[in-house]
Amino acid sequence: MENRKGDYNAHCLILPYPIQGHINPMLQFAKRLRHKRIKITLAVTKFLFNTMQEFPDFVSMETISDGFDEGGRAHAGSLDEYLERFSLIGAKTLMELLEKLKNLDCAIDCIIFDPFLSWGFEVAKKSGLLGALFFTQSCAVDNIYYHVYTGKLKLPLSDSEIVIPGLPPLEPKDMPSVIYIHESHPAALKMLVNQVKHLGEADWTFVNSFYELEQEVIDSMAKFSSVKTIGPTIPSMYIDKQLQDDKEYGLSVFKPIADACKKWLDERTPHSVIYVSFGSLAELGLEQMEELAKGLIASNKYFLWVVRASEESKLPKNYAEESSEIGLIVSWCPQLEVLAHDAVGCFITHCGWNSTLEALSLGVLMVAMPCWTDQSTNAKFVNDVWKTGIRTRPDENGIVRNTEIVRCVELVMDRDEGKEIRRNAIKWKEMAREAVDKGGSSDTNIDEFVSALMNPPI
Ligand code: UDP
Repeated sequence: MENRKGDYNAHCLILPYPIQGHINPMLQFAKRLRHKRIKITLAVTKFLFNTMQEFPDFVSMETISDGFDEGGRAHAGSLDEYLERFSLIGAKTLMELLEKLKNLDCAIDCIIFDPFLSWGFEVAKKSGLLGALFFTQSCAVDNIYYHVYTGKLKLPLSDSEIVIPGLPPLEPKDMPSVIYIHESHPAALKMLVNQVKHLGEADWTFVNSFYELEQEVIDSMAKFSSVKTIGPTIPSMYIDKQLQDDKEYGLSVFKPIADACKKWLDERTPHSVIYVSFGSLAELGLEQMEELAKGLIASNKYFLWVVRASEESKLPKNYAEESSEIGLIVSWCPQLEVLAHDAVGCFITHCGWNSTLEALSLGVLMVAMPCWTDQSTNAKFVNDVWKTGIRTRPDENGIVRNTEIVRCVELVMDRDEGKEIRRNAIKWKEMAREAVDKGGSSDTNIDEFVSALMNPPI
């Protein structure tokens, strides 16, 4: 067994909400801590553990229960029911786990908790441990939720221009979707907004972002919380292909089709491929799927499209076969490897925060097609603030037509009007790398945390 003095300096328990977009960044943060001689235990639900396709080798895995060991979230009647049971049974099983580790002489020093599971902080405090909050969304979005939580931003919103300190003026289309559908989805609003419940109280507040990217909002948030950016949480090899030490990416809910994607991309010329993915959760309507399918053909470029198994039936009949000369459709890919591949010229993305940050950090141009939650806010920043991509314009029925897809792809990849976007993409890629390099803003924040763990106040 590893020894506290010899092999590691402190022991953190990572507690993610069991979805891909939350596990990935928390696990990558864990990897950075591991490099700095912090032992990591990853606590996941039994159901997730039993369905994982890939396991990381740099953490100890332990399970807790969400009360739905056989089916996870899908077996709960509602989100409310799931969260309530998870909070009761999760807290109980987490306490038992802490006790077990203590008895094995492997006690935890700090719980790094996903704010969807804010009870993780309460368990930490009950057990006399440090509690570190880990936001998996941008600071801009966390700031919006803070203003709703504290009642500074009252719902329903009445203005067409929304002014929040630290953020550019926002229109309704730029706001997280839950703000507008809160009456029909009260549980979702509560879960998202309650993420800030322990802001200001937690011993540490981490965000998967970097200071230079969100300087204004971070400075503004400093009035109520000291937010520490530690991102982008991307394995170093993808940021600097010279560094080959970080091989595996982690814990995957879906099985990536890795070899076929790589082989196919290797056969394409640089910047010739459109990569398309809507992440692990978003679902497109049938009509939208058809327009996208048409748009990809009409773009007359190669495309690699991730269509999850649950979305496959929405593809036009025989589409995969009929488009096979220019397109490859897979159910899941190793996205970072794909984005880091020279063949990729642009990314049609739903603008999930991880995908946005990954594309930005790897210098990939984005065509933003936000679907829900925070994706609209991320798309606003991609289009108007960082200017590393373009946001598609849906028609009056909310559908992004095939002609619009072609227009946006051509603009970022080929047209003169896209020059500034292409320049910005290179600039942000460099800044992302600087942030995580030794002495960069994120690296310094991580070092501060590690040093505090190693020298706890007596
Ligand atoms: N991802 C992947 N392979 C795919 C599609 C997505 O590895 O085929 C990863 C992607 O790199 C990202 C995560 O899944 O880290 C999706 O997170 P994001 O926040 O972008 O979207 P969400 O799934 O939460 O909507």
